[in-house]
Parts: sequence; C-alpha cells; structure tokens
Amino acid sequence: MTLELIRGDITRVDADAIVNAANSALLGGGGVDGAIHRAAGPELLAECRLLNGCPTGQAKLTRGYRLPARHVIHTVGPVWGGGARGEEATLARCYKSVFALVEQHGLRSVAFPSISTGVYRFPIERASLIALREIQAALGRLPQLEKVTVVLFSQADLETYQRALAALSSEG
Ligand code: ADP
Repeated sequence: MTLELIRGDITRVDADAIVNAANSALLGGGGVDGAIHRAAGPELLAECRLLNGCPTGQAKLTRGYRLPARHVIHTVGPVWGGGARGEEATLARCYKSVFALVEQHGLRSVAFPSISTGVYRFPIERASLIALREIQAALGRLPQLEKVTVVLFSQADLETYQRALAALSSEG
C-alpha cells in the first residue's frame, strides 16, 4: 500500500482509475476536466451525458475510453468562498465519495489531481492536508487498494503536497 506524490499530467497516468475535478454538469470544462475529456475522446462525454450531473461532494464512475486509465471517477469539489461555508468538510466528502466507488468496484490503483485548487480557488495548503488525510485513511482501511498517486501539475503544488505530507507524518 503506497502513496506517491508526482509532478505530471494525470491524463498520462496508467491506473485503475483517475479522478476528474469536474463541475456539477459533468459535461466537461476547463483545467483538468478539459484535459481528461480531450484525452479520453468523445465517448467519455457521451457516457457523462447519461449521468444527469453530479452534486458537489459526490462522485460518479465512467469508463476511461482512450485514456491509459481504465476508469474516470468524476467528483465535484467545493468552490472556495472564504471557508465558512463548509468547504473543508465538502472537500473531504469528495475524497470519501471517490474511495466509496474505489471500494465498490474493487479498484487497486487510483490517481488524484488537486481537487478544487484551480478555478475553484480552494487554498492548496489547506486542500493538501485534507486530501492526504483522506487518502491515508483509505489506504489504512481498504485492503484491495495498492497504490494512490497524487498528480500535481506544477512544481510549487508538488512541494506544497510534500510539505503537507511531512507535517502529517510528524503529527503521527
Ligand atoms: P477545480 O475546478 O476543481 O479547481 P481545476 O481543473 O481548475 O479544478 O484545477 C485543479 C488542479 O488540477 C489545479 O491544480 C490544476 O493546475 C490541475 N491540473 C490542470 N490540468 C491538469 C492535468 N492535466 N493533470 C493534473 N493536474 C492538472
């Protein structure tokens, strides 16, 4: 059971599933969502159209089509509104919802982008701690889960996640 932090493009990652930071329409968008749809091909949008969207904090699974990953788990993170609107709990719920699908489908490897920290403006220092706490809890709880990768798009984001992991490790 391993947790890996890497810098890269999540559309290139070979895993049982990659996670998409989608919007609630599930019909594609900018950022990582647009990149995933471009790489997966139009069949992904066709399957997404059948899902009737996805509420914030929840997750839905599709096939991966032309991606190296077998599945895409689409989750909708909270838009940051200052922190008093339950954004931290909602972001944690995204990770829990993803891992519920990972468990249900018996997936052994999953790769995440940094959910909500792009266009949705969630501060990455806070988001990284929430992400890593939920990932470590899942790795401890799901025996089938062999590998979780967090794929950061910039060196600065990678270093923020590395600092968060060190801080969590020193907390024990
Ligand atoms: P959100 O709307 O949830 O904030 P964004 O797609 O705007 O989602 O941003 C989430 C994170 O994904 C940002 O850190 C952004 O830099 C990153 N990102 C964008 N494209 C990719 C990609 N191809 N692979 C991995 N991460 C990506």
